Amino acid sequence: LVAEGDSIHRLARRLHEQLVGARITSAQFRRARNDSLELTDLTFKEVVPLGKHLLMRLSGRQHLTIHSHLRMQGRWTVVSSGKNLPPKVADQTRLRMTLKDGRTLAAIDMPVLDVIPTDQEATVIGHVGPDVLADNFDINTAAARVQREPARTAVEALLDQRNVSGLGNLWVIETLFLRGVHPDRPVGDIDASALLALSRRMMLYSRDVAPGMITTGDRRKGRTHWVYGRAGRPCLRCDTPIAFRPGNGSAYRRETWWCPHCQPASLEPSTVPPM
Ligand SMILES: [Zn+2]
Repeated sequence: LVAEGDSIHRLARRLHEQLVGARITSAQFRRARNDSLELTDLTFKEVVPLGKHLLMRLSGRQHLTIHSHLRMQGRWTVVSSGKNLPPKVADQTRLRMTLKDGRTLAAIDMPVLDVIPTDQEATVIGHVGPDVLADNFDINTAAARVQREPARTAVEALLDQRNVSGLGNLWVIETLFLRGVHPDRPVGDIDASALLALSRRMMLYSRDVAPGMITTGDRRKGRTHWVYGRAGRPCLRCDTPIAFRPGNGSAYRRETWWCPHCQPASLEPSTVPPM
């Protein structure tokens, strides 16, 4: 599964615990921008998530931030002292840092990787909307951002990370089902606050209590999600076959699933159960 906000938060927390206070003794870049910025002798100060972005802040003679976004495939690896990176990933390594304690930290197959002065982080993340998992997340402000183009489809407005960040396709698809909202409903017509509140609650649970992005509470194979990944199979609530649209059939290029019965395209309030 693709990393969404909850798993990025977990990764940030784990890297923060592993790296704070560690000093970089050498760093090698491959195909990274701003690779003239010198990381040697800087110390990890904190690792913080913003939506699906990861910020590693370094301090020392200057304050720099390593900004990364994992998208579908990127990953960070910490290798213990005395061990080497597996040879098969060496070619995919974009940034490799040796730490004073002998460990190695590597960015593998990372699609977005920049080093910037910390006071210029806005140049790479300034467009990112409020993080749905942030402690100070304001649901009404975020709902207004999601609805600022009211004619847009709900699925597209919710996936747009400039509106609200951290929500990925899985959480959006599953929350739309649970709220009985068809993915193509104009976003201006839905209760965006209630939808964001539900997403946030489920994602916090996945981040802090039971990782794995399970939305049904049922860990049995084929029953972990209501509609996501279940094209043509019976709805777990009403037995109607789940509808599916491939990623190349939409402007936002994501696969979409929904239940035609539980998420009617036209608004007939009596058929939409309150969740
Ligand atoms: Zn259904």
